[in-house]
Amino acid sequence: MVLSPLVPLEAPSPAHICPADQACSYLEAAARELHLDQGVLTILSNPRKVVTVSIPIKLDNGEVRVFAGHRVQHCDILGPYKGGTRYHPAVTLQEVSVLAMLMTWKCALLGIPYGGAKGGIALDPNRYSVNELERITRRYTSELIKDIGPSVDIPAPDVGTSAREMAWMMDTYSMNVGHAVPGVVTGKPISIGGSRGREMATGRGVMIVVREALAKQGRAIADSRIVIQGFGNVGSAAALLLHQAGAKILAVSRGSGGIFAADGLDILALKAYSAEHDKNLKGFPGSVPISNAELLALPCDVLIPAALENQITTDNVDQVKASIVAEAANGPVSLEADRALEARGVTVLPDILANAGGVVVSYLEWVQGLSYVFWDEERVNREMEGLIVHAFQQVMEQSQMRQVPIRLAAYMLGVGRVAQALIDRGLYP
Ligand code: GLU
Repeated sequence: MVLSPLVPLEAPSPAHICPADQACSYLEAAARELHLDQGVLTILSNPRKVVTVSIPIKLDNGEVRVFAGHRVQHCDILGPYKGGTRYHPAVTLQEVSVLAMLMTWKCALLGIPYGGAKGGIALDPNRYSVNELERITRRYTSELIKDIGPSVDIPAPDVGTSAREMAWMMDTYSMNVGHAVPGVVTGKPISIGGSRGREMATGRGVMIVVREALAKQGRAIADSRIVIQGFGNVGSAAALLLHQAGAKILAVSRGSGGIFAADGLDILALKAYSAEHDKNLKGFPGSVPISNAELLALPCDVLIPAALENQITTDNVDQVKASIVAEAANGPVSLEADRALEARGVTVLPDILANAGGVVVSYLEWVQGLSYVFWDEERVNREMEGLIVHAFQQVMEQSQMRQVPIRLAAYMLGVGRVAQALIDRGLYP
């Protein structure tokens, strides 16, 4: 048996280095505005539990490979831990820790009774067969068996995972405890208790906040030009819903490259094309290829980074021409770039608000599962829209009332609610 060392198999690229300081800077800025006690800030700056596991599996060719898997549970003051599971070569413990913290503020901002968590395995899912991915997911789940559960910590899909992985996780957990436990994960297939509307939920949330932000500027989706970086689950759903609402989607991209069409792309046809062409977009009729750098610099009304962290930085922020940037990804704008956009009067819709649609429908899925009553898609979308629009309005009010940028306003609401709950519960023992 040949064992490879326990290291991420694909080295993280510098572009994906995670902005840990950035997450703490936003937290500290909110704490200052809220006059939070230093002790409270110190508690909130640190995850409550960090788990790293080895995942040894046999590849299809018989070789044994060991992956590093993480789960970081940041805070469960408001309820069970909640957050996605990411499969990407750039996954590190630091990245997962930052993303877990973001989930805490996101859930609190949306008023849903969860704390933040995140999980991840450092691997490129495109390099492994379905059977290998199943073995990896099942082993990862059983390594975490004591740390997850419907009232403990509830994983969901994230970059590189989908309903398929959630079904494997649910099955593995259920087989280990001896009975079916659908509530251990969200974002699972509808056949085992998943919610209608979950797959499109994050993209739908993005569409809703973009619509609300445009309306505040006296504009409508129907006369806006939109550019989207990323055409995965979130980017493609946002593109489709915005396109259906009448927006011109000028350009979209994937890791393998982007495409541009001055008159707008037909997103439904593009989704079919991409499915037929191994997820590639290039060659789509009526479009021309475009690089990632060119895409981010396109003149447009709304720019939606829907890929990974740190895409808009000091290197390219001056080229951004959009008047609204909606963070569909987590952490796509660096701290310095965020300041530069703010100084130029660009409306930045922060990740903890803009991409919250996913976890909101995860919550609705969990609620439906706990009550054994399942809703139609129209009801799911309506309930979700209500929560997102309410949070959007609260953030805008806070920003105006306290004269602070939108991101800081969102953090103040999220952090403030968690801090208040911490103060009310008190410290154990
Ligand atoms: N991974 C998504 C996020 O970052 C969804 C998390 C969830 O549904 O728990 O918000």
